Amino acid sequence: MESVIIKDKKFEVSITASAISQRVKELGAKLNEDLKNTRPIFVSVLNGSFLFAADLFREIKMDAEITFIRVSSYEGTQSTGSVKSVVGIKESLEGRTVVIIEDIVDTGDTAVYLINELKKQNPKQVLFASLLLKPDALKHPVKIDYVGFEVPNDFLVGYGLDYDGLGRNLKDIYTLA
Ligand code: 5GP
Ligand code: MG
Repeated sequence: MESVIIKDKKFEVSITASAISQRVKELGAKLNEDLKNTRPIFVSVLNGSFLFAADLFREIKMDAEITFIRVSSYEGTQSTGSVKSVVGIKESLEGRTVVIIEDIVDTGDTAVYLINELKKQNPKQVLFASLLLKPDALKHPVKIDYVGFEVPNDFLVGYGLDYDGLGRNLKDIYTLA
């Protein structure tokens, strides 16, 4: 199995670039169908979702906007458990169809926090798209409307996900060996 070393840790391929690409196309097709009579605004959560957001957004056929926010809840390979908002949205979300784009939902802390924060602006609806979901790590009853892959409760890197800032440029997704 193909593996990489990042800093002190070894990672093995778990989701290939071609599987990701195929799944992103499927999610895009579903969003195009579900949101066809709307002009959605996508909200990409930096840094981790930047590649997923870029690939997913290019699948979107209707008039759509994208904006970027930043939150941080992770240090090293352990969740710190507290979510800190860092950068907010300038666009008005009032009456809009909002689609949050995340790389991964782990405990769900960030997802719950983001949904609650964005709902304060009175959007018409807030949908949530995450490339990855760890069902066994979820601590909240949060609905993730669009999930790329359900994954085990292991630490992943690649395709935007980092280990201490590194590994985001890997085309495949790797799991800690
Ligand atoms: P949550 O708030 O759901 O516990 O965690 C969400 C954030 O933690 C994600 O957006 C991501 O930045 C980070 N995270 C969770 N699991 C992983 C993982 O396996 N690998 C990496 N690199 N980041 C993760
Ligand atoms: Mg993220």
